[in-house]
Amino acid sequence: MNALDVQNLTLSYDRDAVVTRAHLHVAAGRIVGVLGPNGAGKSTLIKGILGLHRPDGGDVRFFGKPLSAVRHRVVYVPQRSSVDWDFPVTVEDVVLMGRYGRLGLLGRLRNQDRVIARRALDQIGIADLADRQISELSGGQQQRVFLARALAQDGELIFMDEPFVGVDAATEEAIVGLLRDMRDEGKTVIVVNHDLQTARAYFDELVLLNKSIVAHGPTDEVFTPALLAQTYGGRLAVIDGEYGDKILIAA
Ligand code: ADP
Ligand code: MG
Repeated sequence: MNALDVQNLTLSYDRDAVVTRAHLHVAAGRIVGVLGPNGAGKSTLIKGILGLHRPDGGDVRFFGKPLSAVRHRVVYVPQRSSVDWDFPVTVEDVVLMGRYGRLGLLGRLRNQDRVIARRALDQIGIADLADRQISELSGGQQQRVFLARALAQDGELIFMDEPFVGVDAATEEAIVGLLRDMRDEGKTVIVVNHDLQTARAYFDELVLLNKSIVAHGPTDEVFTPALLAQTYGGRLAVIDGEYGDKILIAA
């Protein structure tokens, strides 16, 4: 049983198709990178899969079921920039929000939920920030709050949109460690990322997207000059690296 099955998904804004006829099948227990140039439709694809953007057509299944049947098993970590960080809540409040999805109608947070939230903060290394207002945090700290919330949600299929943008090296390392821990527990993580340099190190599989899916498969098979050129068009350059290696830069 796949963690995710996307059939013929088409998404548009004002009739302009942004993602056309996407088919995607992801087995459980993988870290999957979604790569493509700016404006390729990466964020829209994730929102469309999660029903946050209404598709023109197509079908999406999570563990063989519609989202409504498995909502608490699916976690979304949006792009940090898409959130109002001036909203007056504490770090712990945000992480506790990750527990609400599990409470059901009229459910109330129990002590156990607070324990889980605290444990998540601890695991991400920001337990000391629990009582701080989210507006006071650095970019890396904000991203860690998102990750702690995702951990507290305890889902099995996790979508993250650009989690490495604007974070320090230590946070990037912490995120990658967390992705691997999740994968090793059998969870599935789908990560939108635009950095080509790290793609081979971070992802088991790649999806190359530019309005339609150009390729999907094991990273070794997909991270090829031909497929990357097809995805990035003229926006890809190869430069000589410091150690005689080749570095790919996407504009
Ligand atoms: P990516 O995440 O790959 O950079 P997006 O999914 O954000 O790409 O955007 C894909 C295309 O859809 C872009 O051309 C973008 O300008 C357009 N787009 C994104 N959001 C909206 C919106 N809310 N309204 C209209 N067009 C949008
Ligand atoms: Mg995006």
